[in-house]
Amino acid sequence: MFILYSTVVLALVAFTIFFTFTALQQVVAMVRAGTPEPLTHQWQDRALSVLVMVFGQKKVLEDRSYGFMHFWYLYGFLILGIGHLELVLFGLTRFTQDFGYHPFLYRHLPFLPATFIHLYEFSQDFMALGVVLVVAFALYRRINGKVARLLPRSKDAETILWLIGGLYVTFFIFVGSETFLRMETGALGYSWHWYLPISSLIALAVAGVSATAVLVINEIGFWLHLGVFLGFACYIPRSKHMHLLAAGPNIYFRHFETVAKPRPIDFEKSEKFGVDRVQELSWKSLLDTFACTECGRCDAVCPAHLTKKPLQPKKILHDIKINLRYKNWNHIKKFRSSWGDSLDGQLEKELAESPNLALVNLEKISANSDLVEADGGYKLEGQIHVDEIWACTTCAACVEVCPVLIDSVPTDIIEMRRNFVMMQAENYPKELNTAFKGMEVQGNPWGVGQDKRQDWAKQLDVPLMADQGDHEVEYLFWVGCAGATDERSKKIQQALVRILKKAQVDFAILGCEEKCTGDPARRMGNEYLYDQLARENVEMLNRKKFKKIFATCPHCFNQLKHEYKDFGGHYSVQHHTELIAELLKDKRLTLDDKKQIEEKITFHDPCYLGRYNKQYEAPRETLKTLPGVTTTEMTFSKEKSFCCGAGGGRMFMEEHLGNRINLERTDQAMATGATTIATGCPFCMTMLSDGVKDRLADEQIKVKDIAELVAERI
Ligand code: SF4
Ligand code: SF4
Repeated sequence: MFILYSTVVLALVAFTIFFTFTALQQVVAMVRAGTPEPLTHQWQDRALSVLVMVFGQKKVLEDRSYGFMHFWYLYGFLILGIGHLELVLFGLTRFTQDFGYHPFLYRHLPFLPATFIHLYEFSQDFMALGVVLVVAFALYRRINGKVARLLPRSKDAETILWLIGGLYVTFFIFVGSETFLRMETGALGYSWHWYLPISSLIALAVAGVSATAVLVINEIGFWLHLGVFLGFACYIPRSKHMHLLAAGPNIYFRHFETVAKPRPIDFEKSEKFGVDRVQELSWKSLLDTFACTECGRCDAVCPAHLTKKPLQPKKILHDIKINLRYKNWNHIKKFRSSWGDSLDGQLEKELAESPNLALVNLEKISANSDLVEADGGYKLEGQIHVDEIWACTTCAACVEVCPVLIDSVPTDIIEMRRNFVMMQAENYPKELNTAFKGMEVQGNPWGVGQDKRQDWAKQLDVPLMADQGDHEVEYLFWVGCAGATDERSKKIQQALVRILKKAQVDFAILGCEEKCTGDPARRMGNEYLYDQLARENVEMLNRKKFKKIFATCPHCFNQLKHEYKDFGGHYSVQHHTELIAELLKDKRLTLDDKKQIEEKITFHDPCYLGRYNKQYEAPRETLKTLPGVTTTEMTFSKEKSFCCGAGGGRMFMEEHLGNRINLERTDQAMATGATTIATGCPFCMTMLSDGVKDRLADEQIKVKDIAELVAERI
């Protein structure tokens, strides 16, 4: 009789293994369909990341309430997994009862001491109760729709929660009835047992029910529990819960830069630029989509989303995955691309026929709500609208908060922009052409004559690199396009020159030899133009003699420090706020204590200084030393800083959709009661100054660069 029982269990387990393994194979093939992306070999650091992020739940626990819930899920899953194994082994060995033996149960293992078994039983009961409570709360939060980042409601996420809840409700049916039967047979006393805190309560509660009825309930409990468990295993690789299996590998294969760099293009070999088919994204970007937990933390911090633009980073990842899984799988499995494949005829044909990832030529969408169906769920599922692609400021707020280290959204968006700009020559904001032309012809996006690039330094007696001969200067001062051509930014450069001279720093500028680093072109998808500018600048810089570079623009700073490495430019680079902090600390620069200018200052962290380069303290340390200054922080500061709206080339685009990001940030700064907003970026300066002008007719609040605040006090 029990032979049949065990045979059915065996068949179910074998089916589950086959069904799950097939789905996992498909996921691996889908990830491998992506384009190559080399990784550094740092296996020790990678393994450490997995330990800290997966088992330590470091990022997850940054959000206290959600982190606590997830902690229960993870450790519940791991600890209760020992019990699931027991359940399966029990079913498989039940047939031994036909021969007078006990089926497998841990408590029948003679070498395990009773205390150990009790602790094991307690861990199962206790964790199962915790998971049931956490799941009930999570379902309540999702169903009542009050948590914005969990919207739109996800059927997938709710199905998973019902499955987890079902798993542990059936656990208590099975173990509670079994505990009652153990009491009936005298194996356990009729009382509450600390090691079965819930199950013994259930057993006591059903006292009086006939043993035969409880036996039937016990059998039903077993099959239900086993069924939900095996069903869950089959569902995982087909659902968002694939992150259970993909998060670990994704963290292991992480990028070690704080934000992933856009990939350079080999223009001599490539015929197609950018991405409009999902399989043209890198394999790591595709792995990211399977690791996504759909927790929505990224949406909750995305400045584009929060100002009602049609962009949700979670949706971008979801769409890439849906496009890959359901729209493109038939094309992918025909050629099963492997790393290193060249674009041969078959692959090109498949790419041409496969469904588009980036949607174009549709009516404009104007708000987040336009992306969501009336009954929840996304419209345009599996494809990304052109307005989503151009709404991103590449601020990396989504990267900073992701608990599974997903960093591909801004770089994938740049890849899709490249396709619009370089392949289609349409579907991008036309005002970008002015900036592109300016960079191409005059070396700056405003198109100011290249011969005027050092006009700001007239009468300041600023040394030029060209006049240095064999002298190796201590600092090459990279001025940047805004600093050289924008009237407001020129004042920052002039203030900085005063500081450098006072501190007797050996420095020189490039003057008319300097050109735009190309950062706006790269972020706006014109990699061809960026490539040209980067190569010219690196070639010119490599001929100069200097020890270090500093830049006043965080975008230039980031280019010189990180992205020029791909073009042979390896330099020691500082941001001017770092240099000023260092000069003050080394006492090369002293402040005049008599210049007590009373100001209450809040510092706005530029994204490319803060999140991209993890520099939060240098400007704050300087502010603390300034006579007459008190400081205050915005709610969103440092890692949580809110973009000014200018990054990702958005500085050069009109803001037609949603609310203006710079006004949102200005409001956040004004809410602190500060009299001055300080920053360290010419783009942030423009956006916040415009914000203050919009909000206050009489400009009671000033916006100043750290260099200006220091120069006023020397
Ligand atoms: S990308 Fe990261 S933060 Fe965003 S939903 Fe996915 S797991 Fe959460
Ligand atoms: S980089 Fe910034 S703007 Fe772009 S999706 Fe992420 S959070 Fe939103």
